[in-house]
Amino acid sequence: MKKKGAILAAVAVVILAAVIVCDFLFNKTVSDTFLAMNTTVSAELTGLKSEDALTQVKEKILYLDEKLLSRTNENSEIYSVNSGKTEVSNELASLLNVMKQLEKNSGGAFCIGVAQLTDLWGIGTEYARVPDEAEIKAAIKNCYDWQIDGNTVYLPEGVKLDLGAVGKGEACDHANSTVSFKNCKESVVAVGGSVLLHSTVPKALFKVGIRDPLGEANEYCAVLEIGEACVSTSGNYERFFEDESGKRYHHIFDPSTGYPADSGLMSVTVVTQSGTISDALSTACFVLGIEKSLPLLERYNAEAVFITEDKQIITTYGELENETVTVTNDIYTLGEAK
Ligand code: ADP
Ligand code: MG
Repeated sequence: MKKKGAILAAVAVVILAAVIVCDFLFNKTVSDTFLAMNTTVSAELTGLKSEDALTQVKEKILYLDEKLLSRTNENSEIYSVNSGKTEVSNELASLLNVMKQLEKNSGGAFCIGVAQLTDLWGIGTEYARVPDEAEIKAAIKNCYDWQIDGNTVYLPEGVKLDLGAVGKGEACDHANSTVSFKNCKESVVAVGGSVLLHSTVPKALFKVGIRDPLGEANEYCAVLEIGEACVSTSGNYERFFEDESGKRYHHIFDPSTGYPADSGLMSVTVVTQSGTISDALSTACFVLGIEKSLPLLERYNAEAVFITEDKQIITTYGELENETVTVTNDIYTLGEAK
């Protein structure tokens, strides 16, 4: 009897050890922080082969930045396009098609032909200034007239492309495209203001803080509780300068006027399944303001949280959905977009 008991105990120990090893392998969490796309990328991945997934995520994001989207890196495709190259890869052609569609669907609030305007204002650089009216007019002239036809890009004289409004979201999509990443049980990848939330657990919910536009970088004013998605925020606090009178000029432009967008918002957070679309829509909605954003959001099956200059947090999330928005700073009041 004693011998049988000893064998059972030994078997139990072996099973326990196996469970601990399996748990360690299947739930291994790895994380990293690095610089890309002029911002900080942080990734935390949990699951089997999470280390491989992290390596791939990093490679994909750095590749995207250096070889495709960076406007300042001479080795990137967009740099070549802005320098006169007309034939582009399938990868860039398909992104440019999505950009043209967004330009049309947003009524021109979103336009990647604004590189000259971005450079003219220089917001976020030491050369930031308020240009004069004639310079602004010249910089936005023909900005909507760039074209993509198959793999051929056409840029009118003086127009250059700036993918700054979608690069971070596109990076999230690239991270999400690897098999080892998809196999991870739970992952969060934050590329500046775009955050990718992934889980293999059905109906898993994540909590995401929305930055307080009036607070410091680490201060939140609301918490979103949502499922797997990509969340992008555009705000007037990200890059700006103030003139002598204290007037703030930020980096999101209304391409129809050439001036920083002035639609009564301090930030817009957009939630949808595609990183590229959530990033582009956060920029577009910031330009459009709440009312004009609603049909655009609906078209892309996206939800949004707007923070207005008069301290309201307006959400498209309805009361009955399990996904919620909670205000955590009581200087703000919560409202629903009508
Ligand atoms: P961030 O880069 O801070 O995450 P956004 O995603 O809103 O913010 O992108 C802002 C950047 O997009 C600007 O720095 C500029 O390069 C570019 N941009 C500015 N206005 C527009 C616009 N109306 N449409 C498309 N791109 C824009
Ligand atoms: Mg954006």
